[in-house]
Amino acid sequence: MPNPIAATTSIGNGIFAIDTDYIRPLLDASHLIVEAGRAAFVDTGTNNSVPLLLDALRQYDVDVADVDYLFLTHVHLDHAGGAGELLKLLPNAKAVVHPRGARHLIDPNKLIEGAIAVYGIERFQKMYGGVTPIDAERLIVVDDLQQLQLAGRTLQCFFTEGHARHHYCLWDPASAGVFTGDSFGVSYRELDTENGEFIFPTSTPIDFDPAEAHKSIDRVMAYEPSQLYLTHYSRVTGLPRLADDMHHSIDAFVRIAMAHVDAIDRTAEIEHSLFDYFVKRLKLHGLRGGTDRVHAILDFDVSLNTMGLEVWLERKAKQTNS
Ligand SMILES: [Zn+2]
Repeated sequence: MPNPIAATTSIGNGIFAIDTDYIRPLLDASHLIVEAGRAAFVDTGTNNSVPLLLDALRQYDVDVADVDYLFLTHVHLDHAGGAGELLKLLPNAKAVVHPRGARHLIDPNKLIEGAIAVYGIERFQKMYGGVTPIDAERLIVVDDLQQLQLAGRTLQCFFTEGHARHHYCLWDPASAGVFTGDSFGVSYRELDTENGEFIFPTSTPIDFDPAEAHKSIDRVMAYEPSQLYLTHYSRVTGLPRLADDMHHSIDAFVRIAMAHVDAIDRTAEIEHSLFDYFVKRLKLHGLRGGTDRVHAILDFDVSLNTMGLEVWLERKAKQTNS
Protein backbone atom coordinates (compact mmCIF):
# COMPACT_ATOMS: atom_id res chain seq x y z
CA MET A 1 0.00 0.00 0.00
CA PRO A 2 1.46 3.42 -0.89
CA ASN A 3 2.10 5.80 2.00
CA PRO A 4 -0.88 8.08 2.53
CA ILE A 5 -0.32 11.82 2.30
CA ALA A 6 -1.31 13.74 5.43
CA ALA A 7 -3.29 16.98 5.15
CA THR A 8 -1.25 19.32 7.31
CA THR A 9 -1.36 23.04 8.11
CA SER A 10 1.43 25.14 9.54
CA ILE A 11 0.02 27.43 12.21
CA GLY A 12 3.21 29.20 13.27
CA ASN A 13 5.61 28.93 16.23
CA GLY A 14 6.68 25.46 15.06
CA ILE A 15 3.15 24.08 15.40
CA PHE A 16 1.44 22.02 12.71
CA ALA A 17 -2.09 20.61 12.57
CA ILE A 18 -2.45 17.15 11.04
CA ASP A 19 -5.85 15.88 9.94
CA THR A 20 -6.19 12.39 11.48
CA ASP A 21 -8.93 11.45 8.98
CA TYR A 22 -11.42 10.47 11.69
CA ILE A 23 -15.11 10.40 10.59
CA ARG A 24 -14.61 13.19 8.01
CA PRO A 25 -11.96 15.73 7.01
CA LEU A 26 -11.33 18.61 9.45
CA LEU A 27 -12.98 16.86 12.40
CA ASP A 28 -10.05 15.51 14.43
CA ALA A 29 -6.53 16.95 14.59
CA SER A 30 -3.23 15.86 15.97
CA HIS A 31 -0.81 18.73 16.56
CA LEU A 32 2.92 18.47 16.03
CA ILE A 33 5.27 20.83 17.89
CA VAL A 34 8.78 21.10 16.48
CA GLU A 35 11.49 22.84 18.49
CA ALA A 36 15.20 22.87 17.62
CA GLY A 37 15.08 19.47 15.95
CA ARG A 38 12.99 17.75 18.66
CA ALA A 39 9.26 17.13 18.35
CA ALA A 40 6.09 16.25 20.24
CA PHE A 41 2.60 15.26 19.20
CA VAL A 42 -0.45 16.53 21.06
CA ASP A 43 -3.13 13.84 20.64
CA THR A 44 -2.70 11.12 18.05
CA GLY A 45 -6.04 10.23 16.51
CA THR A 46 -6.67 6.49 16.12
CA ASN A 47 -4.66 3.53 14.83
CA ASN A 48 -5.89 4.52 11.36
CA SER A 49 -4.17 7.90 11.81
CA VAL A 50 -0.68 6.52 12.50
CA PRO A 51 0.51 6.40 8.84
CA LEU A 52 -0.66 10.01 8.47
CA LEU A 53 1.29 11.14 11.52
CA LEU A 54 4.40 9.42 10.13
CA ASP A 55 3.88 11.22 6.83
CA ALA A 56 3.61 14.53 8.70
CA LEU A 57 7.01 13.82 10.29
CA ARG A 58 8.43 13.25 6.80
CA GLN A 59 6.85 16.48 5.54
CA TYR A 60 8.46 18.52 8.30
CA ASP A 61 11.78 16.68 8.19
CA VAL A 62 11.52 15.17 11.66
CA ASP A 63 13.09 11.74 12.22
CA VAL A 64 11.08 9.17 14.21
CA ALA A 65 13.94 9.17 16.75
CA ASP A 66 13.49 12.92 17.31
CA VAL A 67 10.02 12.68 18.85
CA ASP A 68 10.21 13.04 22.65
CA TYR A 69 6.56 13.14 23.73
CA LEU A 70 3.02 12.17 22.86
CA PHE A 71 0.93 14.53 24.95
CA LEU A 72 -2.42 12.75 25.33
CA THR A 73 -4.91 15.35 26.59
CA HIS A 74 -7.19 12.50 27.63
CA VAL A 75 -7.66 8.85 26.81
CA HIS A 76 -10.78 8.98 24.61
CA LEU A 77 -9.92 7.05 21.48
CA ASP A 78 -10.14 9.92 18.99
CA HIS A 79 -7.31 11.51 21.03
CA ALA A 80 -5.21 8.59 22.28
CA GLY A 81 -6.40 5.52 20.34
CA GLY A 82 -3.34 5.51 18.08
CA ALA A 83 -0.77 6.18 20.83
CA GLY A 84 0.23 2.55 21.47
CA GLU A 85 0.76 1.79 17.79
CA LEU A 86 2.61 5.06 17.24
CA LEU A 87 4.95 4.50 20.23
CA LYS A 88 6.16 1.25 18.64
CA LEU A 89 7.56 3.36 15.79
CA LEU A 90 9.03 6.22 17.88
CA PRO A 91 12.01 4.77 19.80
CA ASN A 92 12.55 7.75 22.15
CA ALA A 93 9.02 8.98 22.78
CA LYS A 94 6.98 8.71 25.96
CA ALA A 95 3.25 9.26 26.33
CA VAL A 96 2.27 11.98 28.81
CA VAL A 97 -0.93 11.19 30.67
CA HIS A 98 -3.17 12.33 33.56
CA PRO A 99 -2.93 10.04 36.63
CA ARG A 100 -6.51 8.82 36.11
CA GLY A 101 -5.81 7.96 32.45
CA ALA A 102 -2.64 5.89 32.88
CA ARG A 103 -4.22 2.53 33.73
CA HIS A 104 -6.51 2.75 30.69
CA LEU A 105 -3.52 3.11 28.38
CA ILE A 106 -1.75 0.16 30.03
CA ASP A 107 -4.92 -1.94 29.78
CA PRO A 108 -7.24 -0.43 27.16
CA ASN A 109 -10.07 -2.98 27.63
CA LYS A 110 -12.33 -0.48 29.41
CA LEU A 111 -11.79 2.05 26.60
CA ILE A 112 -12.56 -0.59 24.00
CA GLU A 113 -15.71 -1.71 25.85
CA GLY A 114 -16.81 1.91 26.24
CA ALA A 115 -16.38 2.65 22.55
CA ILE A 116 -18.18 -0.56 21.56
CA ALA A 117 -21.06 0.42 23.89
CA VAL A 118 -21.38 3.73 22.03
CA TYR A 119 -20.73 2.64 18.43
CA GLY A 120 -21.22 -1.15 18.20
CA ILE A 121 -18.48 -3.61 17.30
CA GLU A 122 -18.51 -3.11 13.53
CA ARG A 123 -18.22 0.67 13.64
CA PHE A 124 -15.65 0.38 16.43
CA GLN A 125 -13.37 -1.73 14.21
CA LYS A 126 -13.77 0.63 11.28
CA MET A 127 -13.37 3.85 13.30
CA TYR A 128 -10.49 2.79 15.53
CA GLY A 129 -8.78 -0.27 14.03
CA GLY A 130 -8.21 -1.68 17.56
CA VAL A 131 -6.23 -0.21 20.47
CA THR A 132 -2.66 -1.25 21.38
CA PRO A 133 -1.69 -1.31 25.10
CA ILE A 134 1.24 0.82 26.29
CA ASP A 135 3.98 -0.43 28.67
CA ALA A 136 3.98 1.49 31.96
CA GLU A 137 7.64 2.46 31.49
CA ARG A 138 6.73 4.41 28.37
CA LEU A 139 4.30 6.66 30.28
CA ILE A 140 4.98 9.94 32.04
CA VAL A 141 2.19 10.42 34.58
CA VAL A 142 1.95 14.15 35.24
CA ASP A 143 0.87 16.20 38.23
CA ASP A 144 -1.26 19.31 37.88
CA LEU A 145 0.94 22.22 36.68
CA GLN A 146 3.87 19.92 35.84
CA GLN A 147 6.25 21.34 33.26
CA LEU A 148 8.14 19.38 30.63
CA GLN A 149 10.89 20.60 28.34
CA LEU A 150 10.98 20.05 24.60
CA ALA A 151 14.51 21.10 23.56
CA GLY A 152 14.30 23.88 26.14
CA ARG A 153 10.72 24.90 25.21
CA THR A 154 8.62 24.78 28.36
CA LEU A 155 5.22 23.10 28.14
CA GLN A 156 2.94 22.99 31.16
CA CYS A 157 0.19 20.45 31.83
CA PHE A 158 -2.80 21.63 33.85
CA PHE A 159 -5.83 19.60 34.81
CA THR A 160 -9.25 20.43 33.31
CA GLU A 161 -11.73 17.76 34.32
CA GLY A 162 -15.11 18.93 32.98
CA HIS A 163 -15.08 16.87 29.78
CA ALA A 164 -13.34 13.87 31.29
CA ARG A 165 -11.88 13.29 34.75
CA HIS A 166 -8.57 12.27 33.16
CA HIS A 167 -8.15 15.40 31.03
CA TYR A 168 -5.35 17.96 31.03
CA CYS A 169 -4.54 20.91 28.79
CA LEU A 170 -1.08 22.01 27.69
CA TRP A 171 0.09 25.62 28.03
CA ASP A 172 2.71 26.69 25.49
CA PRO A 173 4.16 30.07 26.56
CA ALA A 174 6.27 30.28 23.36
CA SER A 175 3.10 30.74 21.28
CA ALA A 176 0.86 32.09 24.07
CA GLY A 177 -1.37 29.17 23.16
CA VAL A 178 -3.14 26.32 24.92
CA PHE A 179 -3.70 22.84 23.49
CA THR A 180 -7.17 22.24 24.88
CA GLY A 181 -8.11 18.71 23.77
CA ASP A 182 -11.89 18.68 24.37
CA SER A 183 -11.87 20.99 27.43
CA PHE A 184 -12.66 24.13 25.45
CA GLY A 185 -15.25 22.55 23.18
CA VAL A 186 -15.36 21.94 19.47
CA SER A 187 -15.08 24.51 16.68
CA TYR A 188 -15.41 23.21 13.14
CA ARG A 189 -13.91 25.37 10.42
CA GLU A 190 -16.99 24.68 8.23
CA LEU A 191 -18.98 26.80 10.70
CA ASP A 192 -16.75 29.90 10.46
CA THR A 193 -18.64 32.93 9.11
CA GLU A 194 -18.03 36.67 8.86
CA ASN A 195 -18.90 36.66 12.57
CA GLY A 196 -15.89 34.49 13.35
CA GLU A 197 -15.64 31.05 14.88
CA PHE A 198 -18.55 29.00 16.26
CA ILE A 199 -17.85 26.94 19.38
CA PHE A 200 -19.80 24.51 21.56
CA PRO A 201 -19.05 22.11 24.44
CA THR A 202 -18.70 18.40 24.08
CA SER A 203 -20.52 16.31 26.69
CA THR A 204 -19.33 12.94 25.33
CA PRO A 205 -19.92 9.98 27.73
CA ILE A 206 -19.17 9.28 30.50
CA ASP A 207 -17.69 12.02 32.68
CA PHE A 208 -19.34 15.30 31.60
CA ASP A 209 -19.62 17.56 34.65
CA PRO A 210 -21.06 21.06 34.06
CA ALA A 211 -19.53 22.72 37.15
CA GLU A 212 -16.09 21.33 36.26
CA ALA A 213 -16.63 22.28 32.61
CA HIS A 214 -17.08 25.94 33.61
CA LYS A 215 -13.93 25.71 35.74
CA SER A 216 -12.01 24.24 32.79
CA ILE A 217 -12.85 27.30 30.66
CA ASP A 218 -11.74 29.65 33.46
CA ARG A 219 -8.52 27.73 33.98
CA VAL A 220 -7.64 27.99 30.28
CA MET A 221 -8.49 31.71 30.18
CA ALA A 222 -6.43 32.42 33.31
CA TYR A 223 -3.30 32.03 31.15
CA GLU A 224 -4.61 34.91 28.98
CA PRO A 225 -3.84 32.94 25.82
CA SER A 226 -3.95 34.62 22.43
CA GLN A 227 -4.90 31.38 20.70
CA LEU A 228 -6.12 27.87 21.43
CA TYR A 229 -5.43 24.64 19.57
CA LEU A 230 -8.52 22.43 19.75
CA THR A 231 -8.40 18.79 18.75
CA HIS A 232 -11.73 19.43 16.93
CA TYR A 233 -10.58 21.51 14.97
CA SER A 234 -7.31 23.27 15.55
CA ARG A 235 -6.62 26.94 16.00
CA VAL A 236 -9.17 29.48 17.23
CA THR A 237 -8.34 33.07 18.16
CA GLY A 238 -11.65 34.77 18.94
CA LEU A 239 -11.03 34.92 22.69
CA PRO A 240 -12.53 35.92 25.12
CA ARG A 241 -15.82 35.90 23.14
CA LEU A 242 -15.46 32.13 22.66
CA ALA A 243 -15.09 31.67 26.43
CA ASP A 244 -18.41 33.49 26.94
CA ASP A 245 -20.03 31.33 24.28
CA MET A 246 -18.75 28.21 26.03
CA HIS A 247 -20.10 29.27 29.44
CA HIS A 248 -23.53 30.05 27.93
CA SER A 249 -23.54 26.87 25.95
CA ILE A 250 -22.69 24.64 28.92
CA ASP A 251 -25.67 26.21 30.73
CA ALA A 252 -27.88 25.65 27.69
CA PHE A 253 -26.88 21.95 27.50
CA VAL A 254 -27.82 21.59 31.18
CA ARG A 255 -31.17 23.36 30.67
CA ILE A 256 -31.99 21.16 27.69
CA ALA A 257 -31.12 17.94 29.53
CA MET A 258 -33.09 18.98 32.63
CA ALA A 259 -36.12 20.01 30.58
CA HIS A 260 -36.48 16.45 29.27
CA VAL A 261 -35.28 14.48 32.29
CA ASP A 262 -38.62 12.67 32.68
CA ALA A 263 -39.62 12.50 29.01
CA ILE A 264 -40.79 9.10 27.79
CA ASP A 265 -38.58 9.31 24.71
CA ARG A 266 -35.86 11.25 26.45
CA THR A 267 -33.10 10.56 23.93
CA ALA A 268 -35.14 11.80 20.98
CA GLU A 269 -36.35 14.86 22.90
CA ILE A 270 -32.87 15.92 23.96
CA GLU A 271 -31.49 15.33 20.46
CA HIS A 272 -34.28 17.38 18.97
CA SER A 273 -33.79 20.28 21.40
CA LEU A 274 -30.01 20.29 21.04
CA PHE A 275 -30.36 20.35 17.27
CA ASP A 276 -32.85 23.25 17.47
CA TYR A 277 -30.47 25.09 19.79
CA PHE A 278 -27.64 24.74 17.26
CA VAL A 279 -29.85 25.84 14.36
CA LYS A 280 -30.91 28.99 16.23
CA ARG A 281 -27.38 29.89 17.26
CA LEU A 282 -25.98 29.19 13.79
CA LYS A 283 -28.63 31.37 12.18
CA LEU A 284 -27.59 34.28 14.41
CA HIS A 285 -23.98 33.41 13.57
CA GLY A 286 -24.78 33.89 9.87
CA LEU A 287 -24.33 30.32 8.64
CA ARG A 288 -25.94 29.77 5.25
CA GLY A 289 -27.32 26.50 3.90
CA GLY A 290 -30.26 25.90 6.25
CA THR A 291 -30.94 22.92 8.45
CA ASP A 292 -29.64 20.36 5.93
CA ARG A 293 -26.20 21.84 6.30
CA VAL A 294 -26.47 21.78 10.10
CA HIS A 295 -27.58 18.11 9.97
CA ALA A 296 -24.61 17.21 7.77
CA ILE A 297 -22.08 18.88 10.08
CA LEU A 298 -23.56 18.35 13.55
CA ASP A 299 -25.69 15.18 13.67
CA PHE A 300 -22.74 13.14 14.92
CA ASP A 301 -22.09 15.62 17.76
CA VAL A 302 -25.77 15.97 18.65
CA SER A 303 -26.06 12.22 19.11
CA LEU A 304 -22.83 11.91 21.13
CA ASN A 305 -23.64 14.94 23.31
CA THR A 306 -27.11 13.57 24.00
CA MET A 307 -25.65 10.25 25.17
CA GLY A 308 -23.29 12.09 27.49
CA LEU A 309 -26.03 14.32 28.90
CA GLU A 310 -28.15 11.26 29.65
CA VAL A 311 -25.25 9.60 31.47
CA TRP A 312 -24.86 12.83 33.47
CA LEU A 313 -28.62 12.89 34.29
CA GLU A 314 -28.44 9.31 35.52
CA ARG A 315 -25.36 9.96 37.63
CA LYS A 316 -27.05 13.01 39.14
CA ALA A 317 -30.22 11.02 39.93
CA LYS A 318 -28.15 8.32 41.69
CA GLN A 319 -26.34 10.93 43.77
CA THR A 320 -29.63 12.51 44.88
CA ASN A 321 -31.11 9.11 45.78
CA SER A 322 -28.16 7.86 47.79
ZN1 LIG B 1 -12.64 14.35 21.16
